[in-house]
Amino acid sequence: MAQTREFKTEVQQLLQLMIHSLYSNRDIFLRELVANAADALDKARFESLTDPEAARQWKISITPDKENKTLTISDNGIGMTENDVVENIGTIAKSGTKAFLKMLEEKGENSADIPEMIGQFGVGFYSAFMVASSVELITRRGNEPAVRWSSTGEGSYELENADKAEPGTDIILHLKEDAELYLESWKISEIVHRYSDFIAYPIVMPEKKVKEDKTECIEERTLNSQKAIWLRKPSEITEDEYKSFYAHLSNFGGTEFLKAIHMTAEGTSEFKALLFLPKQAPFNLLMPDIQKKGLQLYIKRMFITDECKELLPDYLRFVCGVVDSSDLPLNVSREILQQNPLLGKIQTAVTGKVLSELKKLLENDRENYEKFFAEFGRILKEGLHTDRTNGEKLKDLVLYESMNSENGKRITLKEYVNAMPESQKDIYFITGEKREAVASSPALEFFRKKGYDVLFMTDPIDEWVMQSMYQYDQKYFKSIVKGDFEDKESEDKVKADSEKYAVVAEFLKKTLEDKVSEVRFSGRLTDSPCCLITDGQALSPHMERLFRAMNQDVPVSKRILELNGDHPIIAALNAKIAVDADSVELKKYAGVLYDQALLLEGSPLSDPAAFAREVVELLSGVLK
Ligand code: ADP
Repeated sequence: MAQTREFKTEVQQLLQLMIHSLYSNRDIFLRELVANAADALDKARFESLTDPEAARQWKISITPDKENKTLTISDNGIGMTENDVVENIGTIAKSGTKAFLKMLEEKGENSADIPEMIGQFGVGFYSAFMVASSVELITRRGNEPAVRWSSTGEGSYELENADKAEPGTDIILHLKEDAELYLESWKISEIVHRYSDFIAYPIVMPEKKVKEDKTECIEERTLNSQKAIWLRKPSEITEDEYKSFYAHLSNFGGTEFLKAIHMTAEGTSEFKALLFLPKQAPFNLLMPDIQKKGLQLYIKRMFITDECKELLPDYLRFVCGVVDSSDLPLNVSREILQQNPLLGKIQTAVTGKVLSELKKLLENDRENYEKFFAEFGRILKEGLHTDRTNGEKLKDLVLYESMNSENGKRITLKEYVNAMPESQKDIYFITGEKREAVASSPALEFFRKKGYDVLFMTDPIDEWVMQSMYQYDQKYFKSIVKGDFEDKESEDKVKADSEKYAVVAEFLKKTLEDKVSEVRFSGRLTDSPCCLITDGQALSPHMERLFRAMNQDVPVSKRILELNGDHPIIAALNAKIAVDADSVELKKYAGVLYDQALLLEGSPLSDPAAFAREVVELLSGVLK
C-alpha cells in the first residue's frame, strides 16, 4: 500500500525554489540525472569486480515519450532499497541542502550561475523539479523488493512497492507544459553531447527506424563518445570539452577553471592524470568534514573512488581531477587499495607537478597567480608546516603583503630579500588580524626609519606556519613585536634617554607593575610615545588572542613597555613627576598610555569603559 510522507522543511524550501525560481539554465537537470546514473553504474560495476554474476551490459538510457509527455532516464546500476530511497531522496535533510540554501540566501536566488552549482551541493536529484510537475522513481537494489517513489515536489511524497524486472533505477519525469522541448531528440542529444560526452558508459536513446521493407523498428542511438578526456592529446581537446569535464568533477561548481594540467608518468608507477587548478574556492574547502572528495582514481579507465585521500596532500585539496593508473590491482577492496605504496608514489609525482605548474604560473602570469593565491593561498601555506620535503619550493610560492607594498599587493619572499638594504640581515614580519591593524603598529616605526620592509602576516594560519619557518635564503625570520633588535646607531641615544628620564621609567614600572615586566627606552619609535614588546620566548599578542578565541587558557604574559625619549609626553611626565610624584592624575596618565599602546597593536582593553572615562576626564581638563 502506498504511504505518504512529509519532506523535511529544508527539502520543501529547496523544492519551492526549484519549482518557482531557478530558470536560468534548466538544461542541467539532465546532466545531474545522468551523473547520478553514472555514479550508480560505477558503484554496481565496482561491486561486480568481486561478484562476477552481477556484471551486465552497463548503460544509461533516455527515453522521450511525446504522447504521455514523459522523459525517462534509466540506468541498470546499483539501485536503491526502500531505506536508501527514504534516506537519499526526501526525509533526511542532508548537509548539502542546508549549505545550498545558505548560498542562495547570500547570492540571491536569481543569480545566473546557481543552476551550475547545484551538483556541488548534493541536491542534483531535485533539479528534476525545474522541468517536471511530478517525478516518479522506480528502483531495485539486487534482489531486494523494488520501490516506487513519487512526488509533485509540494511538501510530501509517496512510497509503495513496485515491480521491476532488473536491478537499477528509472526516473520518470512528467514534464511541465513549458518544458516539452525536452522531448525533442535533438535537444536531448545536444545536452548529452555538451555535458556528458565523456561519461564512460553508453548513453542511448531509442529511436524509431523505418526499415527497407517499410516496417518500423526501434534502434538505440548512442549519444556520447565515451572518450576518456585524460587519455587524449591536449592539442585535440577543445575548451568546451575541458569545461564540461571540469563541471562534472562534482566537488567544484561552475565551468571556469584557471588551468588544466596533463600528466603522463612512466617508470616505477605508470599513470596518466588530468588535473585542474580552480578559479574559485568552493564553499566547503575550509570545512574538512564536508570536503570528503579528492582526486578521482581510475584503474585502467575504470572508476574506482573519489574518496582516496592518499593521492594528494591536504594542502593541495583545491586541485581536482583524475588519476588513471595502469599498475594498481583492480580486484581489491578500496580499503586495501588505500594501503598500496604505489599511491604514495603517485602523490609525490602529482605534488611535484602541481608545485612546478604553480611556479610557472607565478613567473609567467603574475596577475592570475595573485588571484589564485587570494583564493587558495591560505590552504597552500598549510604545506609549509606539513610538507618538509617540498618546503623550499613552497616558500617560493607564498605571497605576503608588506609595509612597503601598496594595499592589496603581495610580494614573494624572493622579492622581499632582493629589496633588502645591505645593512639588513634578517627577514622581518608582524602578525595580526588584517592589514589596517598591523599597518598602524608603532613597532613598524623603527623599520620605516631604517628603510627595511616588514611582511604583514594577516592570515590566521600564518602564526602557526611561522613556528616552523625559520629561514629563507639563509636569512632568519624575526617577529618585530618580539625581543630586542641590535641597533648600534641609537645605542648612545638610548643610554642618554635612560639616564635623563630614569624617573619616568621607574614611575611607569611601579604604576603598571601588574601589567608590564619591564620599562625601557629604545630607538624603535619615532612617532609614538611607547609600544609593547613581547619577550623572545612568549606568545605574540596575536597568538594569545587566537588561543583565547578558541577558548583556550593562556597565561597572561607581562610585556615590555618601550619608551620613545624624543616624544614630548615623556618630557612632560618627567616634569610632572618632579613636582608631585604621587598625584592621582599621573597614575591615570600611565594607565591611558598603556591602554592606547594595546589599542594600537589591535589587542582588546580589559576595561574599555574605564579607558573612555579617563580620556574624557583628561579632555575636560585640557578644554577647561
Ligand atoms: P548527490 O548525487 O550529489 O549525492 P542527489 O540529490 O543528486 O545528490 O542524489 C542523492 C542520492 O540519491 C545520491 O547520493 C544517491 O545515493 C541516490 N541516487 C540518486 N540517483 C540515483 C540513481 N540513479 N541510482 C542510485 N542511487 C541514486
